[in-house]
Amino acid sequence: INILAIESSCDETSASIISDGKILNNIIATQSVHEKYGGVVPELASRAHQQHLIPVVHEAIATSGITKEELSAVAFTRGPGLMGSLLVGVSFAKSFAYALDVPLIDVNHMQAHILAHFIDDPKPTFPFICLTVSGGHTQLVLVKDHLDMEVIGETLDDAVGEAFDKTAKLLGLPYPGGPLIDKYAKEGNPKAFSFPVSDMPNLSYSFSGIKTAVLYFLRDQLKNNPKFIEENLADLCASIQFTLIKMLLQKLKKAADIYGVKDIAIAGGVSANSGLRNELQSLAKKHGWRTFIPKFEYCTDNAAMIAMAAHYKYLKGEFCGMDVVPEARMKI
Ligand code: ATP
Ligand code: MG
Ligand code: FE
Repeated sequence: INILAIESSCDETSASIISDGKILNNIIATQSVHEKYGGVVPELASRAHQQHLIPVVHEAIATSGITKEELSAVAFTRGPGLMGSLLVGVSFAKSFAYALDVPLIDVNHMQAHILAHFIDDPKPTFPFICLTVSGGHTQLVLVKDHLDMEVIGETLDDAVGEAFDKTAKLLGLPYPGGPLIDKYAKEGNPKAFSFPVSDMPNLSYSFSGIKTAVLYFLRDQLKNNPKFIEENLADLCASIQFTLIKMLLQKLKKAADIYGVKDIAIAGGVSANSGLRNELQSLAKKHGWRTFIPKFEYCTDNAAMIAMAAHYKYLKGEFCGMDVVPEARMKI
């Protein structure tokens, strides 16, 4: 079984080929047009997908050793994501599947972020809990089987990646600021400044408060010292990161206790954060958890995870029709 998978939900155009469950490649074109705007501009993202998609698919096929005639199915991200971006991928996938006369497989992007854990060994065992942390989502998911997942907690407002990026912007860092906060935090003191830790009911998160807290804090400090940010950048980054991680892990611990689960995974772009990885490891040691973190290229948006999800759907015969449409707010 050879499947071509396409990812185009946000600002990464990606294609991957999976052969009998084994990922052969993962071609990713990152869009740089958004940097100067400090965030993804949907209209520009759609146009860039339009430009990148065919070269990216071409490269995936050319480097796979499989000809397009040998493809058994074409898979694509149906949602959630930016409507215009999704439309480019969905339309391409439909045309390609139609031309090759093979079935189409629609994939949920958030499910795929979790299934990235099945690309390499060791793999988590069911049921496990996955904390999915990205630019658009923050979810605690109880994973009962490859295609059977339940969201047990999520953010009521901003995603944690958004909190990283927005506070980074307040510090004058370029977009996306998450990786830069991570970088500067390594040299800083996480206890230098304290920001409020939200505690929402049950397993819910809230990340909008920290943005406002940092905004007012900086405004007050800059009044006395216009150089406050540059003089304290590392401590600010470390303190912000510390607060965000604390919120993430508090609820993760709670979820693990409630569901009695010891296999704990993280997924999504923010799982690249070194502070989160370190704190998760020490928590795991303390509670006897086994932890799972995908390779970096499978953490951020990529088509290999879409291919992995498509593989499981193919095995179950879960295909979609030519009348399928993207869903910007698709649920797990
Ligand atoms: P979604 O998957 O919810 O649609 P997305 O596609 O934008 O959102 P990803 O590409 O998975 O999300 O992740 C991007 C996010 O990850 C950005 O917010 C970015 O700042 C953040 N991020 C990446 N690396 C790090 C890091 N080392 N530390 C903190 N945040 C990071
Ligand atoms: Mg992205
Ligand atoms: Fe994503």
